[in-house]
Amino acid sequence: MEADVERVLIAEDVIEKRLDAMAKEVRQDFPGEVIVVIVLLKGALVFAADLLRRLPRMLEIECLNVASYHGGTESAGKVDFLDRKLPEVKGRRVLVLDDILDTGRTLRAVADKLTEAGAAEVKTGVLLAKDRERAVDVEADYVGFEIGDEFVIGYGLDYQGRYRNLPYVGTLKREAM
Ligand code: 5GP
Ligand code: MG
Repeated sequence: MEADVERVLIAEDVIEKRLDAMAKEVRQDFPGEVIVVIVLLKGALVFAADLLRRLPRMLEIECLNVASYHGGTESAGKVDFLDRKLPEVKGRRVLVLDDILDTGRTLRAVADKLTEAGAAEVKTGVLLAKDRERAVDVEADYVGFEIGDEFVIGYGLDYQGRYRNLPYVGTLKREAM
């Protein structure tokens, strides 16, 4: 697996330090409140597990299965909700976590759905945000790292379902794609 990595973009220890700071920001924004955290599967799995263990708060963790990439390296332009039911968010403060903000369609669609479902507040956090123009009007409230507009893998992010377990964010060699 490691042999397919072209370049390490963000090393594990750098991610860990940044998560300490992000957790602090979230703690300050939600002092003492029970919040519902919605983890977007599968990409945000690793990020969420590491961030949430830095939040000594009463939390309720929910997951949502959404798909926009369908295994390739280009955004498909349409967001599919794969669950039959949305988590119960009526009147609740919600924090949505995703792996990466790219076109913005995923985060926009999820935030809109939760707002429609009656959430009192929807905040969003991503590990990575690509430095590019968004296709829709959205920015995340918490951003781990800004990166260039290139395809990345690792730390939850996949290529065709693989490489999610790499402990860092990197790029793939051309011959591996
Ligand atoms: P958006 O809806 O913002 O275009 O895309 C968000 C989703 O696309 C992310 O949740 C992620 O699943 C996928 N995505 C966007 N950029 C990348 C990337 O560079 N690498 C991987 N593995 N997935 C990406
Ligand atoms: Mg995703």
